[in-house]
Parts: sequence; C-alpha cells; structure tokens
Amino acid sequence: MTLPCTENIPSKCTVLIIGGGPAGSSSATHLVKAGIDVVLLERSKFPRNQVGESLIPHFWKFADQLGVSEKIEQEGFIKKSGAITAWDNKIHQTDFSKYGYTRPGLQVERDIFDNLLLDHSKSQGAQVFNQVVVKDINLASVNPVIRYIDTRKEENREGTIQCRFVIDASGHSAMIANQLGTKNIISTELNFLSLWGYFKHSRYIGCDRKSHDASELNSVAPVTFVSSHKDGWLWHIILREKTSVGLIVHTDRLSGMNKQQRESYFKQTCAELPYVKDLLKNASFMENSLNYRPDYSYYTTQSCGENYYCIGDAAGFVDPVFSHGVQNSFYNAAVTCLAITESLKTPQKQARYAQLCENRMQQFYGFSRALSLGDFGCNGVNNQLVVSLMKALPPLELELILIASEMTNRSDNFKKIAQQAGVWDRISANLKDQSLGLVHSLY
Ligand SMILES: Cc1cc2nc3c(=O)[nH]c(=O)nc-3n(C[C@H](O)[C@H](O)[C@H](O)COP(=O)(O)OP(=O)(O)OC[C@H]3O[C@@H](n4cnc5c(N)ncnc54)[C@H](O)[C@@H]3O)c2cc1C
Repeated sequence: MTLPCTENIPSKCTVLIIGGGPAGSSSATHLVKAGIDVVLLERSKFPRNQVGESLIPHFWKFADQLGVSEKIEQEGFIKKSGAITAWDNKIHQTDFSKYGYTRPGLQVERDIFDNLLLDHSKSQGAQVFNQVVVKDINLASVNPVIRYIDTRKEENREGTIQCRFVIDASGHSAMIANQLGTKNIISTELNFLSLWGYFKHSRYIGCDRKSHDASELNSVAPVTFVSSHKDGWLWHIILREKTSVGLIVHTDRLSGMNKQQRESYFKQTCAELPYVKDLLKNASFMENSLNYRPDYSYYTTQSCGENYYCIGDAAGFVDPVFSHGVQNSFYNAAVTCLAITESLKTPQKQARYAQLCENRMQQFYGFSRALSLGDFGCNGVNNQLVVSLMKALPPLELELILIASEMTNRSDNFKKIAQQAGVWDRISANLKDQSLGLVHSLY
C-alpha cells in the first residue's frame, strides 16, 4: 500500500530533497528522526522501475539506523548467500556468512524496495510529493530556491520552495552537478554502457553451485551470478516472479546500433554464454523489458557545498559489479544528514562540516572505483583517502573485500592501494586458494 501524499507543497522548509530513491528517502528519514522538517520532491509516481536488484548485507546496518529492517524482512524478498563469478575461465564463490555477516544479502524488486523506503519516510513525518519535477536550483543566495513543476493535476503548476539546505538525490540526472558543471563522465579504456532486461521461468545457481528450478528458491538460497564475456560482463539475479539479466558492454561494441540491433545482441549474448545459456534455456524474454544506459560511469569534482549536498548516484556512479550502489546511497545519506544536523546546531561551522562530508564521500567513491574500475586514466580518486579507509575497516570486512578483488580482473589499482596501505600482505598471506573463493567447477 502506498501512503497518500499531502496536497499542498509548502513554500519554505529546512531541507529540500530532490528524488525519492534510496539516497533521498533514507536522508529524509534520518532528518525527520532528528527533528528537522523535510520536503521531498520526486518526479515519478511510485512504485517506479529501477535497476540494481542485488543488495550486499552491509545495507542492514543502515536499515537498522532508519528503523526499516522489520518492514524489509516482512516483505519476503529473496535471500542470497553470496556471489559466484565465472571470469576469464576462473570461478570464484563468496559466502557472506564466512565473513561474520549474520544476515543475508537480498535480491529485491527495486520498485517494491524503493517504495517501501519512501513510505517509511512518510510514516516518520517527511513531507513527500510524488509527480513533482524539479526544474532548477538557485544556490546563489544563502537559502537556495528550487523551482518545480507540479504535474499531479491536469494543468501543470509551477512553484518555488526556499530552504536552508538542498540535497540532490536525483540519481543519474545529477541535477546540481550538471548545473554547476562538476559532473565528469569517466572516459578511459574502461568505458562501458549497460543493457538489461527480464526473463520469466529462468533457472538459477544455488549456494551449492548447482543449477536449480525457481520452485526450489525456498530450500536452496541463490547466489548473484556474474560472468565475464568478450565485450564486458553479465549479471543473472533471480527475483520472485522474474529474473534480471544485464550486460555491461564496452561502449565501442554497440556504437551505431539501433534499438532492435541492441536487443538482438543482448539475446544472442545470453544464448551463447556458458552457464547462462543453460539457465535461460526454457526461459522466455519479457517483451519490451530491455533497458539501455549509455555513459554510465561518472564522478563529480565537488559534491558538497555550504548549502547543498549531492548524494547517491547524483554524486557519482562507478560500475555495479560489486553491488555497491544502494549501499553507497545509504552511506552518503547518513554522513550528509550528520553534517546538516551539526551545521544547524553550529552554523559558523557549516563550511567545515560540508568539507568533512565531501572527504567521506570521495573516500567511499574512491574505494568503490578502485575495486571495480581499476583504470584511473582520469582523476576522481584520492588515493590517500582510500588508504585511510582501508586501514580503518574491520578485519573480516576487509578480508571479504580483498577476496572480492580476486574475482574479476578489475581491481589492479585496488591491490596497489591495499599494498600501499600495508593491508594486502597481512591478509593475503593467510589466505589459501579455498578461502580466496576459487572453486574448480560449477554444476
Ligand atoms: C546497470 C546498473 C546495474 C546496477 N546494479 C546494482 C546492484 O545490483 N546493486 C546495487 O546496489 N546497485 C546497483 N546499481 C546502482 C543503483 O541502481 C543506484 O546506485 C541506486 O539506485 C542509487 O540510488 P539513488 O537514490 O541515488 O538514485 P535513484 O534510485 O536513481 O533515485 C533517484 C530518483 O530521483 C528522481 N528524480 C530524478 N530527477 C528528478 C527531478 N528533476 N525532480 C524530482 N525527482 C527527480 C528519479 O525519478 C528517481 O526516483 C546499478 C546501476 C546500474 C546502472
């Protein structure tokens, strides 16, 4: 059930949030819990479709802080044990429970998951308005002014709202970064785009490394399956009623292709790739479910200012191979809300809090990028910040990440930075093949 929206959009508020995805809704919840009044404007009617169905168990600590874990558990999303990668003829398996995680990763329908989070924000007191499109943000004065179009009625109405802080959680629209010219597309050898779609009646790979019928989901937990292919890599994520399959492809490979040609390429790759072709043998592709996102890796040079914060995908996006996106959104939201709460208490330190938040976000971004896009052919990563994060991680969490860095050929820079931080030798010396997750075969 979707909670109703209030009718009238106020003309003033303390914090205005653009976007109701995980970044926007979680910041709304944190702020209202701290007693701060929040207005959130979201252009779509929820539930709305979104890609990014694999959640690593790290997200639970944020769900606990938001007070939404019980609602997530009650929804009955599919629990996964970990991941298997078949990358350049090597197969690796990771199992979260071996690294101290007592709760599972999840495979979620993002329309349902995001709607649940946004409803939770409303239930905590956030004023949420769907179908309201932000057009521009004037950051020139101390109190930003946001211009929007309210599309809920037939005659679209324009309005403005003034606030102390604006949080841009508009996802890859990256409204503020685009407006300020701080968004940079990553353009190096690792320049990818994504194509994804949905199948009915796919089989899946279980934690026992065997192929299973979907009817066995309650008895054998699935893994998120990732496979490299000649043009990039593929994911296979089984959900309750359908299976999400996506290709990450070098941009050059698809240049000049029209929609129909992209769809043929997608279907053909799925039909040829080892393991995936077997999983999808008796599955049917859901017509019109193919999506396409070009130039999807980017970063912003400045995510936080005295009166604005860009968070989640509005601050940058690397690559989904390690399922970091939603977790990154939750993390950004938590540190941003801390910075805003403290700034409201001590306004003379506002600039300092914004800078601290910027460092934290760049640190996390650099960490994700080192792990999943090894090539730093352009700037956007501060190695020293990544080194300090590596040194601060709990040993088991670090071990899991070091093992993840063995699963693909993307993490060379990560290993170099881990050596610089003095953590690589310490951990890898204790790891044998088996604990590195190397397995010799699948079913
Ligand atoms: C191909 C691909 C696969 C991925 N796979 C994974 C995965 O397996 N696991 C994972 O954790 N992450 C994954 N991600 C990343 C994940 O989808 C994102 O990191 C996550 O959705 C970011 O959340 P967000 O709240 O920042 O943005 P979003 O979820 O994009 O939400 C932004 C919201 O802002 C709204 N909005 C935009 N413009 C305006 C406007 N002008 N006015 C009002 N509202 C506006 C949009 O309607 C949207 O609802 C993947 C991403 C891609 C591209």
